[in-house]
Amino acid sequence: MIKAVAALFGLFFALFGLVGQAEPVARLAGEAEILDEAGGVHLTVPVTAPVPWKVWLADEPPRLIVDFQGLAFDEPPVLRSGSIADLRLERAEGDWTRLVAYLREPLTVIEAEMHGTETGAQLDLVLGTTTGGAFKEEARALTEPVAETEKTCCVVVLDPGHGGRDPGAEAGAVNEATLMLEFSLLLKEVLEETGQFEVHLTRSKDVFVPLDARMSLARAANADVFLSLHADDLAKGSGAASGLTLYTLAADAVPGARSVARGAGDDILKEVDLETAEDQVALALAGLQGQTTAPRTAALSRNLLGAVQASDIAVNSRPERQAEFAVLKAADIPSVLVELGFLSSKEDLARLTSPEWHRQAADALRDGLLLWAEEDRLLREGLGN
Ligand SMILES: [Zn+2]
Repeated sequence: MIKAVAALFGLFFALFGLVGQAEPVARLAGEAEILDEAGGVHLTVPVTAPVPWKVWLADEPPRLIVDFQGLAFDEPPVLRSGSIADLRLERAEGDWTRLVAYLREPLTVIEAEMHGTETGAQLDLVLGTTTGGAFKEEARALTEPVAETEKTCCVVVLDPGHGGRDPGAEAGAVNEATLMLEFSLLLKEVLEETGQFEVHLTRSKDVFVPLDARMSLARAANADVFLSLHADDLAKGSGAASGLTLYTLAADAVPGARSVARGAGDDILKEVDLETAEDQVALALAGLQGQTTAPRTAALSRNLLGAVQASDIAVNSRPERQAEFAVLKAADIPSVLVELGFLSSKEDLARLTSPEWHRQAADALRDGLLLWAEEDRLLREGLGN
């Protein structure tokens, strides 16, 4: 094991020819490849941990450039595409590694996503053909200003709870993992329609994504907001719970400690998130949110609730809940766990399986996020940030 790690670092330093470079935080978790498939040219890069990345096009010569931060790459992806003439790895600034694909024909980026997997994460890029003129336009637009591009209002990371071997709550043929994935994909679309949000998912398939990977994905994506989406089962114990409920961390959580303190009287959170071994989303929230973020998170929860109530969506009798979680690390990502409803409630089950309700709830969450983003911007400008 130690030998393998040493070999890995050796390759990393050999590649960059520099000692003292930041250590890589991730390496390939399988074969990276670029190949022709139905729908376009697919680049897949499986990695052991999510890392920040960016992609753009450049001209003269026409090429696609993908940068990864903290990724030790010992060789370029396997080339199985007729549209690509050559692939090369270069060192970029700092601890960034650059993958350059020299194009035989004008291509454009159709899809680009890093999502969680059982072994870490994977970057999926899909490229489609375009005209030479459109390519030149895009390359001109993207090559220079990419670093200064005004960020859209917010990077939102949606975290569909559970997945893979962990189906979450179940009610007959319905399970929470599938419902939350469907809902998150819809919410992503609804948020992107506004042109205001850059949206990432911690998983876009029915796969199990470990808690750490969900958190790392949010950090790697430079998330401004993290929304974890659930519809848990409260049949055991206080079975009467129903309606949408928002969970945030208490402002007085103790920083630095690793254990999770149970919030007094927070039966739902205790049952749902602390005693369900596979579902430690509350811990994820604790890891993402530092104390200084608490007021921004409180505003997020308040705006989400306001929008949900305005759209007449059924909410829990105590819709905003907090618990005193210990904070793993100070981070700066306002985070809310949304229980859209409870699969153990007949009324909620009917709502949660209705496409109309999904649309209504997604619209409401979008409205809440837009309201919050505006308030948060004003707040931060007021603070001189
Ligand atoms: Zn859940």
